[in-house]
Parts: sequence; C-alpha cells; structure tokens
Amino acid sequence: MTKKKRGLKPSSIKQATIFYFVIFAIFLVVLIYSLQSIFINSFYQRMKADEAQQTATDLVAAYNDDRFSFAERAQRVASSNAIYIQIESDEESRIFRGVYDNSNDDYTYEQLAAAAREQLEESSLNSVTLTHTDEVSTRLIYAVYLNPSEADILYIITPLNPSTSTIRILKVQLIYICIISLIIALMMSIVLANRLTRPILKISESAEELSQGNYDTVFDGGEFAETEALAKTLNTASYEMQRTDFYKRDLIANVSHDLKTPLTMIKSYAEMIQDISGDNPEKRREHLNVIITETDRLNKLVTDLLSVSRLQSNQVDLTKEEFDLVEAAQDVYEAFEVLNDQDGYNIIFTGCKPSIINADIDKIKQVMTNLVSNAVKYCGEDKFIQIQLTRTNKKVRFDVIDHGEGIAADELSHVWERYYRTSANHARNVEGTGIGLSIVKGILSLHNAKYGVDSTEGEGSDFWFELDLVKK
Ligand code: ADP
Repeated sequence: MTKKKRGLKPSSIKQATIFYFVIFAIFLVVLIYSLQSIFINSFYQRMKADEAQQTATDLVAAYNDDRFSFAERAQRVASSNAIYIQIESDEESRIFRGVYDNSNDDYTYEQLAAAAREQLEESSLNSVTLTHTDEVSTRLIYAVYLNPSEADILYIITPLNPSTSTIRILKVQLIYICIISLIIALMMSIVLANRLTRPILKISESAEELSQGNYDTVFDGGEFAETEALAKTLNTASYEMQRTDFYKRDLIANVSHDLKTPLTMIKSYAEMIQDISGDNPEKRREHLNVIITETDRLNKLVTDLLSVSRLQSNQVDLTKEEFDLVEAAQDVYEAFEVLNDQDGYNIIFTGCKPSIINADIDKIKQVMTNLVSNAVKYCGEDKFIQIQLTRTNKKVRFDVIDHGEGIAADELSHVWERYYRTSANHARNVEGTGIGLSIVKGILSLHNAKYGVDSTEGEGSDFWFELDLVKK
C-alpha cells in the first residue's frame, strides 16, 4: 500500500509541474510589475536627463557648424523629442517648442530659462542642470554656452514625468506580457510534464505486466538518465526474479523427486516385510536396513532444506570452539572411505600437521561433507577424489579435487547460488537440489572464511576454503 503524506493526496508530476511553472510565471510578472511601478519615475528621469544632455551636445555642434539650417534642425528636435528649446544671443532669443503642457501660469518656460542663466553665469562651468517641481509636474532645465565667447546660450527644458499615455502603454504591454508568459508557462509545463511522465507510466505498465508473471517484459527508460537507470535496475530485477522462479520450480521438481524415491522404497520394503519377510529374520533385517538408509536420505534432504532456509533468514548461531581441522577432515574422509571398496572410488586424503581453528565444528564438517559428496556425484570416470589440507603461517586450506566434467567459466560464479545447477550436470540427470553449495557459502560467510572453486571444463574442479589458525 502506498503511504500518503499526512493525509494529503499525492499530486501527480503533471499537476506539480504545471503548478510550479505557473507560480514561477506569476512571480516573474509580479516582480516586473512592481519594479516597473517603483522605479519607473527615477528611471525615466535618468533617461530624460541623459537625453537632454545628448541633444544639447548635438545642437551645440550643429549651431557652430551651420547657423542657417540650425533653426530648422532645432525645431525638428524639439518636436520629435517633445521638449522646449531656446537659443539666446545678444541680438535675439529664439524658441522652438515641442512641448505644450497645462501647468500653472505661475511661471513660463522663459522664467525657467532665466533661472538657469542666472546659475550658469554664477557658476564657472560650461553648463548647468536644474530641476523645477510644482504641483503638476517636474521639469529638467539644461543650459549650456553655445560658443567659447559665452555670448550665446542654449536651453533645453524637458518634462520629467512620464506622460499618462506612456504609462498606459506600458501597463497594456505588461498585461500582454502577463498573459503571454502564463500561456507559455502553461504550455511548457504540459509538454515537460508529458515528457517526464511518459517513461514513468511506461515503466509502471511494464511492472504491472511483470507482476502478472510475464518475465519477457522489457522496461524502457525513455530519454532521461534517471528513468533509464530505473529501467535498467528493473530489467536486472526482472531477470533475477525469472531466474529464481525457474530455480525454485526446478527445486520443487527435484525435491519432490528426491522425496518420492525414498518414500516409494520405504513403502515397498515395509510391504515386503509385512507380506513376505516378516518371519525371516535375515531378510527382514536386510529390508529394514533399506528402510533405515532411505529414511536417512529423507532426513538429510529435509535437514538441508531447513539449513538453507535458516541460513537465508540469518537465524543461525555459531557455536565456536577450538579444534583441529585436519582431524575433522579425517572424520569426514572416513565416512566416505567405504565408497573406495564398495563402489570403486579412489578417494585419497592428504593431511598436514594439526591446524587448530576456532569455528563451529558441526557446521564446518557439514561444509566438508557437502563438498566431498558433490565430488562423489560429479567426479570423472576415474572416480578420483583428493581431500587435501595445507597450512601456511596463518591459515589452513581445505581442497576437494576431482577429475570430473568441471564447470563452465560463465557458470562458475553461479554455483554458489541457491537452487542453481549447472547445465551440464543437469543434462546428465545427476540427482541434486542445488542447495548444497549455498549452504556451504552461507556457513563459510558466517565464519568470514575465504572460499572458491577453480575448475576447467572437461578436466575437473577444485573446491576450497581457508580458515584462520588460532594464534598460540
Ligand atoms: P546439487 O544438489 O545440485 O549438487 P549444489 O549446490 O551442491 O547442488 O551444487 C550446485 C551445482 O554446482 C551442481 O548442480 C553442479 O552442477 C555444480 N557442482 C557442484 N560441485 C561440483 C563438482 N565437484 N564438479 C562439477 N560441478 C559441480
């Protein structure tokens, strides 16, 4: 069941993306709007002042260059920039108006120019700038000498408040920007959300199929690295599930077979005792022995199954003690030695000097037994098996060597997995469940022991492990 965060219904990626995009667009619009309304005046004034100065410089140059065409030029500039221009020389004062406002009659542009002239004459500079504010508006007055003799003066007067029409145009523009950016944000978020969710939806569809047991499902991660990685992981998981499922089915078939054979034997021998050999002590003992052997086999199988399930769920406690591994290996060897005489095996034991280790003796014996009984099952026609112990300064090593079929290189790492059986042995119909080595692996891992297998196909295998010697 999916957990919901504090009762809140988790929103979809689509909703979230659209939501954040729209919020972002709104934030941007509000920001632009507030900046516009706060700074528009000072910004406008700066622009106007710069413009006035630039116009003045141009006009001064034009005046000194060609005085005849100057008037025309000045009128053009005044009209197109909506400013007031005045030229004052000894002979005349000429005015070019490009601005008509409805300010109070308290003053005139000429008065403003006169005020500027006063300041200009007082100052030692070539030009002066002043502003004048009344209830209606603010104006900037710029006065500059037209020639070095300081006889002629140019005045430029320009209103410093943006006109209401300018402000209205800006506002309308802003509304358009708002609408357009909201639409773009909405469209972009829908496109992005679709692109983001498409691979996720595809992956969840595939997962649904997988959950129905369709292992052929392939997860497609689409164009993003993250979804690609997710798909890759899921593909691996699906492959592992398929394999485990296959091994499990295989195990059930094997276990059922392994359980059925002794059970059939037990039943038929019990019937034989009942019907035939009950009164014949010799026959009866023989038949009872078969029953006991088969029961032992059953017992071993069930114990193995239990061990693997315990090891798997980490329910195993080690009872460690100090003992000689060479002696323990000798015990294991002796249990198998009968096969030499009975079945023509050539099992040999090469020990070394006593090697004391600290480990769970029963479990280590189980490991050795599993390895040797595998060698018995999978050894070659020469039926040669060597149990070998070698010791170095700090470690003792146990090897079981056989001259059997060996294991293909690509299967080597898998033999330790639960239920795994190599294809070659599987094909040869050797009985087995594929759990012996996983028990070995589980026990040796609990002991932090190094273990492994060296095997060449067609030549044989060498299963080994190494344990630390107890320091004296
Ligand atoms: P099983 O019950 O099948 O023997 P194990 O876990 O003991 O299960 O072994 C897993 C597989 O490893 C075996 O099925 C076999 O294919 C392979 N194997 C184990 N020991 C040997 C060996 N000595 N030589 C060749 N193959 C081996």
